[in-house]
Amino acid sequence: MTHYADWVTEPPLLFVVSGPSGVGKTSLCCRLVDELDDGVYSISATTRPMRPGETQGGEYFFKTEEEFEALKDSGGLIESARVHENQYGTPRAFVEQQLAAGRVVVLNIDVQGGVQVMENFPDGVFVFILPPSGAALVDRISKRGEDTDEAVKIRMRNAPGEIAFADKYQYVVLNDDLEECVNRLEAIVIAERSRRRRCYRPEPEDV
Ligand code: 5GP
Repeated sequence: MTHYADWVTEPPLLFVVSGPSGVGKTSLCCRLVDELDDGVYSISATTRPMRPGETQGGEYFFKTEEEFEALKDSGGLIESARVHENQYGTPRAFVEQQLAAGRVVVLNIDVQGGVQVMENFPDGVFVFILPPSGAALVDRISKRGEDTDEAVKIRMRNAPGEIAFADKYQYVVLNDDLEECVNRLEAIVIAERSRRRRCYRPEPEDV
């Protein structure tokens, strides 16, 4: 007897989330991973100084410039970029292992990194998060209290340039309400995992 259920799999996904600083990407990505049964968050490497409350390997793998360059030169990162004066990159080994295990791997990366992943992983899913307004962005970055005044200024100065990249992404989601936005991200995951080319593999001899 044919088991059609065996023809449809839950395929792995490389799920890339970008958007300007302060738009809420980290909260969204963490909430999305919590909602998914088999979602994992890719922890990036960075040369940015640790903020109070952050831990090594928790939010990031904190590296010196030399360590970061060595990792990059050895092919250990699938993408990397200088963002707001620090280096950031996505470790290759974790992404490859998790995709091979069939998981939804969530990348919270800037637009320069997003474009590199588009080139190297064309089967990825690319989502851009928009803030409700420029004012909302300023408000969030300043209230977050994580950055010096100078760092806040740099982030705000970079925001319009980052938003200009939105048209390279497959999906655009407005982060007006966190839960609504998480629901939309989850809906995108479900839709992408239902694409015939990703999940439907009939065994010809069984048809
Ligand atoms: P933050 O320093 O506030 O945690 O992050 C600053 C920016 O760097 C955010 O836009 C974040 O998405 C981006 N970012 C974090 N990790 C990576 C990464 O691995 N690669 C790239 N290209 N950007 C990243």
